[in-house]
Amino acid sequence: MKQERRKSSNVLLDTALQEFYGAADEMRLNEKLISILSHSERRVQVSIPVEMDDGSVNVFEGYRVQHSTALGPSKGGVRYDPEVDMDECEALAILMTWKCSLAGIPYGGGKGGIACDPMNMSKKEKEKLSRTYGARISPILGKWSDIPAPDMNTSSQEMVWIVDTISKMRGDLEPALLTGKPVTFWGSYGRHEATGRGVATCGLELMKVLGKSPDKITAIVQGFGNVGSYTAKTLTEAGVKVVAISDISGSYYSANGIDIRKAFEVVHANPKRLLTGFEKVGNCEKIDEDMFVDADFLFPCARDGMINRKTADKVKARYIVEGANGPVTPEGDEILASKGVTIVPDFLANSGGVIGSYFEWAQNLQGAFWTEEEYNNKLVHIMKGNFRRVWDYAEAKKIKMRRAASMAAIQRVADVIELRGTFL
Ligand code: NAD
Repeated sequence: MKQERRKSSNVLLDTALQEFYGAADEMRLNEKLISILSHSERRVQVSIPVEMDDGSVNVFEGYRVQHSTALGPSKGGVRYDPEVDMDECEALAILMTWKCSLAGIPYGGGKGGIACDPMNMSKKEKEKLSRTYGARISPILGKWSDIPAPDMNTSSQEMVWIVDTISKMRGDLEPALLTGKPVTFWGSYGRHEATGRGVATCGLELMKVLGKSPDKITAIVQGFGNVGSYTAKTLTEAGVKVVAISDISGSYYSANGIDIRKAFEVVHANPKRLLTGFEKVGNCEKIDEDMFVDADFLFPCARDGMINRKTADKVKARYIVEGANGPVTPEGDEILASKGVTIVPDFLANSGGVIGSYFEWAQNLQGAFWTEEEYNNKLVHIMKGNFRRVWDYAEAKKIKMRRAASMAAIQRVADVIELRGTFL
């Protein structure tokens, strides 16, 4: 019997579900698998009491969703944000299932978070919050069951607090329980740059299949944070002329190419890690909006929703490589498609982050440490192969890369569910 299809009032969750149903129908996935994969295996909610610095007690709500563990332990970040709720975590967990599947790594998809305002909490309060959250969800975490990582407003510090708490509870050091740890404590060389390096690799592979030489290409990199800065650095090293960069301090343009090394210097010297004043020292000019600059490639690496119903029409680049998660809205996607723009989708382009996390976990399980070179070579090799698989599939089926990537990712999970069997 055909099960009723899920809808959600949460935009993020509904978008994830409808993209799944669309791809599943196009690949004629059977209804049994559609039903299974449109639901999450586990949605856990915990209450986290924290004694605040003023002596009062605040009870925060925390979440962890495991969408699918068909391919392996669920993998996904933990975010601290006032907007976090169960549906948002589920949407992001679904996307992690497809991202890990497409990346070819042995993980399912998960995501977690705490509804809180970390900007207005002290370090001590955040430590208590992280430790209690870790303790409350520890029954479902494990190196072979569910492996968190940092996400929005969380860093290696929160990861250390969580892993330390659970290790002490279990009486055993558990470094492989989560990833994104500092290099000084079971983290990995190369992880910090991995996402940007992967995004740039996808861009360079796209140039290769188009028969374009990187030194004839101009690019815009929107967002000069972790992902954008290393995307820009890797592109520049490959000969691409990055003509515009930006962050929340503004957009910066140079027809001769931005001096990326100088941009790093400015950001490192700035307490807020921003490009403020770059136009004075970087031989460039400050402009209104970098994403409308005339260039061949646009790498949106800032945040979600930047290319939308209002902005998509003004984008001049013919090729977009999505470094951020969800930088192009569904309406923006339609407008760009009508203009013939090629888009490398986020869950392919920014998968270097989770592939890098997998490398950290693999090293932890072995008690081994790789060199940075070993790490980077493996990452680039995997990213190139994954890009080429999606490109070839999209070309063969005459479909957009986003749909091709969804279909390839869903197929792998579906095949493994068939192989392992279900309790039906
Ligand atoms: P980050 O906070 O380090 O950097 C974000 C940058 O974008 C900052 O420089 C910020 O100033 C800039 N920015 C924000 N709003 C902007 C705007 N309106 N215009 C121009 N610049 C703007 O974050 P990040 O880790 O680099 O993540 C960026 C995106 O990539 C997010 O969507 C994130 O979910 C996604 N992502 C990150 C990783 C990772 O490993 N860090 C992995 C996968 C996906």
